[in-house]
Amino acid sequence: MAFVDLHLHSRFSDGTYGPEELAAQARRQELAAIALTDHDSVEGCPGTAQACAAAGIEFVTGTELTAERDGNELHILGYCVDIENGRLLTEIARFQAVRQNRIREMVARLNQLGVPLPVEAVFALANCRAPGRPHVARALVEAGFCASFDEAFERFLKKNRPAWVPKFKMSAEEALELVHQAGGVAVLAHPGLNRTDEVIPGLAEAGLDAIECFHTKHSTAAAEHYLQMADRFHLLVTGGSDCHGLNKGKPLIGTVKVPYQHLERLKARAAEIRTAAGPHAGRG
Ligand code: AMP
Ligand code: FE
Ligand code: FE
Ligand code: ZN
Repeated sequence: MAFVDLHLHSRFSDGTYGPEELAAQARRQELAAIALTDHDSVEGCPGTAQACAAAGIEFVTGTELTAERDGNELHILGYCVDIENGRLLTEIARFQAVRQNRIREMVARLNQLGVPLPVEAVFALANCRAPGRPHVARALVEAGFCASFDEAFERFLKKNRPAWVPKFKMSAEEALELVHQAGGVAVLAHPGLNRTDEVIPGLAEAGLDAIECFHTKHSTAAAEHYLQMADRFHLLVTGGSDCHGLNKGKPLIGTVKVPYQHLERLKARAAEIRTAAGPHAGRG
C-alpha cells in the first residue's frame, strides 16, 4: 500500500529541513507523496516540488494558515493551492508582516525583562518570511539565556507568559475562502490539539472540505472520533505527522501513515473547486 504525509514544516517556517532534506527523508520513509504546510507561507513550495520531482516523489502544494473562530486559534491547511495566486500571496505577505512585527514586540519584552537578546539574532536565525516563537526559543538557547527550547517556552513564550504577544489572525471563514479562491481544498488541522469540536459543524457549513483525522498528537481513539465526525459532516479525511525536522526532538516525517486514497479524493475535490470557479480559477 502507498502512504503519504500531508503535514510537514520546513526551514521556510519553524521546521529545520530544507527542500532536499525533506525529499530525501520522504524517500527513506518510502512515501508516495508529501505536502509542505509551512505556517502562513508557500515560500518553500517551488524548491520542494523540484527536489521531490528529482527524488520521484509526488509533491502537493500547501500552507497552514493561522486563523481564529470565537476566540479560539485554529489552523486551516490549504492543499493544491496555486502558489502564484495573487490574493493568496498578498494575504500571506500581510500575515508574514504581522509575524515579523510580533517578533520585534516579543524581543522588546524580553529586553525589558533583562534578557538582552538582539532582534537581529532572531531574524538571522529564522532566515525566512514567516518567523515564529520557535525561532525566538532557539535564539534564546543559542545565546545561552535558556538551557532548552522547552525552557524558553515555559519561562517566556507560552501563552500568558511574560514575553508572549497575541497574534492578529484572519477569521476561519476568510481562510476557507482564501484557499478556495486559490483553487485549493481547505482542511481543519489537528482538531484534537485545539479541542474545538464545536466549530466543526459551522466550518462544514462555511465550506470546509476535510478534517485532519490522522496526526502525531491524535490517539487512535481521537483519530476514530474524527473519522466519525468527517463521516457525519460529509468531510474528506487527511493526515500527516506535523514534522518540524529536528526542532522538537526526533523528526516525525513518515510516522503517521496515511493511505494514498485520501490524497486521491483531496485532489479530486480540488479539481471540482477549480472547475466550479471557472477557467480562471486559481489564477488572478
Ligand atoms: P507562533 O506561530 O509564533 O505562535 O508559534 C507557534 C509554534 O510554536 C507552533 O507551531 C509550535 O511549533 C510551537 N509551540 C507552541 N507552543 C509550544 C510549546 N509550549 N513548546 C514548544 N513549542 C511550542
Ligand atoms: Fe509549527
Ligand atoms: Fe498547526
Ligand atoms: Zn503544523
